[in-house]
Amino acid sequence: MINPQYKVYIGLGSNLGDSLVYLNNAVTALHSHQKINHLRLSPFYRSKPQGPQDQPDYINAVAQFDTDLGAHDLLATLQKIEKNNDRQRNGKRWGARTLDLDLLLYGNIIIETATLTVPHPWMCERSFVLYPLQELSPHLIFPNGRTLVQCISKVSANDVQLISF
Ligand code: ATP
Ligand code: CA
Ligand code: CA
Repeated sequence: MINPQYKVYIGLGSNLGDSLVYLNNAVTALHSHQKINHLRLSPFYRSKPQGPQDQPDYINAVAQFDTDLGAHDLLATLQKIEKNNDRQRNGKRWGARTLDLDLLLYGNIIIETATLTVPHPWMCERSFVLYPLQELSPHLIFPNGRTLVQCISKVSANDVQLISF
């Protein structure tokens, strides 16, 4: 039997070390994964850190792809990529990190387990998620019926800066 393919969105972020290298490593790892197909990547954005302000700005992006990995297997895959890219988990919330990969949307599915909440709980409030997401799928509708357009109208465009190379 063929497993169903889910359309997935993930958020990528880095504010420690050579962020562009870490983000590109993550994209390469996702690209080369056998069960990840049709990967699309947003442009990169610069954003202020949330939480503690005594840390560098972030570089953020959003990726979209199709996968038949289960949601928890996908989370494990993302965490393995983080680990391979020097991500240290020191228990400090929202501290500086080389690579952060968050599962934003997994098809139209709602998941609430001890280790995984999807849609990602704060995605609708975060400029650094919504602006890159808009570049990929401007007409997106979330599983709760809210639209990306509604969410983006409530956040500040000044929080994020498009990076052009
Ligand atoms: P935030 O979730 O607010 O962006 P964070 O990315 O800094 O914060 P982490 O320390 O990277 O948080 O992750 C903490 C835990 O969050 C992970 O161990 C994971 O089990 C859990 N988690 C729950 N839902 C998700 C999700 N949708 N994507 C990634 N991790 C999640
Ligand atoms: Ca995060
Ligand atoms: Ca995370």
